Amino acid sequence: MAARQLDHPRPALSGVPVFMYHDLCEGAASDRYTASLPQLTMHLGFLREARFTVCSLEEALRPLPHGTRRAVLTFDDGLVRQCDIGLRVLVEHGFSATFFVTTSLIDTPGYMTWNQLRGMRTAGMTIGSHGHHHADHTAMSAKQVEEELRRSRGILEEKLVAPVNAFSAPFGFVNRSVAAVARQVGFQHVCSSLPWPVQPGMTMIPRIVVYKNTTREDFAGLACGSAWPLMARRARHSALHVPKFVLRRFWPAKFGVGPIPEEQ
Ligand SMILES: [Zn+2]
Repeated sequence: MAARQLDHPRPALSGVPVFMYHDLCEGAASDRYTASLPQLTMHLGFLREARFTVCSLEEALRPLPHGTRRAVLTFDDGLVRQCDIGLRVLVEHGFSATFFVTTSLIDTPGYMTWNQLRGMRTAGMTIGSHGHHHADHTAMSAKQVEEELRRSRGILEEKLVAPVNAFSAPFGFVNRSVAAVARQVGFQHVCSSLPWPVQPGMTMIPRIVVYKNTTREDFAGLACGSAWPLMARRARHSALHVPKFVLRRFWPAKFGVGPIPEEQ
């Protein structure tokens, strides 16, 4: 598969694919955004066989030397199974990834603990922010966004004793104002869920979501920048933008977007 795709390239886009995983499971996945252990193993196996360098977000933004292939792996939400399953598979393949965690959920059931996050860092993983609350930042005032992001970054840096430079927007809801505030509070990298490879100099990092039905072949096409699947995903993403906007503004509970919880 890998060799065939590299020997006979289809129309391909330049840039580095930044993959976005959510929850993981050992057996068959039921949720659309959950990847199974065999699926993750297949994806990472493809990257290894096709001689991709799995790099950091920072490296992905640098110009790509001719003939080299890079990819970035990210995981959103800080779920405990990303540590139990994901870390093991990543280490087996010799890869690293960025894990975006929601700070108010750390040490709560189903989510990673501080000890697990420290263990992740020791194993070579990067920890980024997914906000303090898992909330829609585009529905907040600039002041609220600043409070949320400054708080999340501050907590992570204090507890992990390390700089935290990347932010991924919950639900992929990010606009220029949110990105500007994120940079103002110190995040160098702001990640969206626009399905496209990242190009040098981009200020917002697009990411390609991995679904429960993303096969090895689909993954290989997306990793190699195959134009048609990426354009199809991008068209779908754009088509859903307006209905998503309406739903989250006028029917937030249905869409799973709630207000920021009151402090205890
Ligand atoms: Zn999320």
